Amino acid sequence: MRADTNADLDEFRARVRAFIADRNPGVKHHTGVRAPDADFVPAIRKWTADLFAAGYLGGEWPEQYGGSSDWDLRKAFVVAEELATGQTWLPIGAYALAAPAILDFGTDAQKDHYLPRIRSGEDIWCQLFSEPGAGSDLASLRTRARLDGDHYIVDGQKVWTTNGQHADVGYLLARTDQDAPKHKGITAFAIDMTLPGIDVRPLREITGTTDFNEVFFDGVRVPASAVIGEVDNGWTVANSSLAHERTGVAAMASELQLNVGRLVDLARPRFGESSVRREVGRIATHATVVDLMSRRAQSRMLAGQTEITDAPTVKIFFSDTNLAMTEAGMRLEGADGIATEGDTAAVDDGWWQDAYLYARAWTIAGGTNEVLKNVIAERGLGLPRDPAWHRPRSSTP
Ligand SMILES: Cc1cc2nc3c(=O)[nH]c(=O)nc-3n(C[C@H](O)[C@H](O)[C@H](O)COP(=O)(O)OP(=O)(O)OC[C@H]3O[C@@H](n4cnc5c(N)ncnc54)[C@H](O)[C@@H]3O)c2cc1C
Repeated sequence: MRADTNADLDEFRARVRAFIADRNPGVKHHTGVRAPDADFVPAIRKWTADLFAAGYLGGEWPEQYGGSSDWDLRKAFVVAEELATGQTWLPIGAYALAAPAILDFGTDAQKDHYLPRIRSGEDIWCQLFSEPGAGSDLASLRTRARLDGDHYIVDGQKVWTTNGQHADVGYLLARTDQDAPKHKGITAFAIDMTLPGIDVRPLREITGTTDFNEVFFDGVRVPASAVIGEVDNGWTVANSSLAHERTGVAAMASELQLNVGRLVDLARPRFGESSVRREVGRIATHATVVDLMSRRAQSRMLAGQTEITDAPTVKIFFSDTNLAMTEAGMRLEGADGIATEGDTAAVDDGWWQDAYLYARAWTIAGGTNEVLKNVIAERGLGLPRDPAWHRPRSSTP
């Protein structure tokens, strides 16, 4: 159902689809935000450059940095949907988060340096926000940056750093004022990931792949010119850049629809069993609800009437339905479910096993479902605030 489409958009969609079919660097076998093998990274850098050059990414940037005066948010939704259903790679890294931070808060020198390098795929960014003790409660972060002349000395540890092993630049949040209230005294930096004292340690996940990393900082000397925005104002920089992310709802709904199609194919030989029909029907219905929620969120964004609950609602329903879908796929495979990628007996070369093991990640990444439910309850419905969440930060750093 595409209540919002028109001839222009249909023509644009056809062009994007043909472009992706013609130029994509290859089918992405695993679902989710995954890191490629190192030898595939050059192909993704080129793909990134191609997408920007074609105007399919970065259209909302100011024209002097390659944006377009006729950029339209509806087209950005179409691109996100087509990239998801094309089952190909997105540009990797945290460019979609870093670019708005640089555009809104960066110095002219930072804009001139970083924005062209994001467009060309020359710089892959990683997001250095989460820490072992600071995920949902990000403002509790302890990595510190201490001013020493014209440099900051950074010490601490980050975790969950997606694509950190491939990153050229890190979008870092570090505490610069130990005595300030919890959400103050944090500064945003653009740091060169090759600086001495940075140790990126890839983590092997339950999927058998390495998508994220631990990153350690031991006396890393970062030039003061790497600060993004004002010192101690990193909380505002980070929140503002997160708020720019608008196409995720479109990508999630499209990916789910595509994968429910896989489930239907897997289940088809057993459609004679009413329990199978019921389960697949239930999941397909939920996927349609996610699609409708996504379209409602998109319509509200286009009308400038976004509500705080829009994206969290889509994300919760998407990740729960995605999890149920992968569990159903594993059940349908029965004993074959133990065969994984590379095994000759594996169905769809182990796609289901990987998707099943990865499905939990969607319920955590970008804000856990529990925390998003708090957002909906407190900020959307006006329910009383969760006292545990709003307790003051401990005085021990
Ligand atoms: C695949 C993946 C990729 C990621 N990539 C990056 C990245 O590139 N860079 C980066 O900086 N971070 C990244 N993250 C980290 C992500 O942002 C955090 O995992 C997330 O914010 C949750 O933090 P946490 O893991 O510390 O869990 P915690 O915050 O410790 O939560 C643990 C549990 O407690 C629950 N909980 C916490 N607070 C509340 C509350 N107030 N009310 C109810 N329940 C609560 C949570 O829902 C969860 O179930 C990634 C995560 C994943 C899964």
